[in-house]
Amino acid sequence: MSEDCIFCKIVKGDIPSKKVYEDEELIAFHDIRPIAPVHFMIVPKEHVAGLNDCRPEHRDLLGRILLLAPKLAAEQGLKGFRTMINTGREGGQEVFHLHVHVFGGGSTLPKT
Ligand code: AMP
Ligand code: ZN
Repeated sequence: MSEDCIFCKIVKGDIPSKKVYEDEELIAFHDIRPIAPVHFMIVPKEHVAGLNDCRPEHRDLLGRILLLAPKLAAEQGLKGFRTMINTGREGGQEVFHLHVHVFGGGSTLPKT
């Protein structure tokens, strides 16, 4: 738990979110500024600032996040989806609590 981390506050329930999943280690909720018809994020409950801060002991956690993505995407009606992990300010990261974006639906996704 990091005092002024917005995602830690969501994990604690101090800030509301449109939750799509929760278990003892992970939470997933819709992005407030969606870039696709369906756009949610999978977030570990433990405060890890980002991919640059992951260590070998986070291997299972990272694996669980990626294995959860297709399950939740299917539940949200997506036949295909895109994942994104912004890392560091120069990588476009705005919230420094690890999260994996999952988004899709619609045909406007750029071919990157
Ligand atoms: P990133 O650039 O990967 O750090 O993205 C952070 C994402 O968190 C952005 O897409 C924001 O729209 C999203 N976000 C910020 N605050 C909230 C919030 N309170 N609830 C849901 N999503 C949020
Ligand atoms: Zn946090």
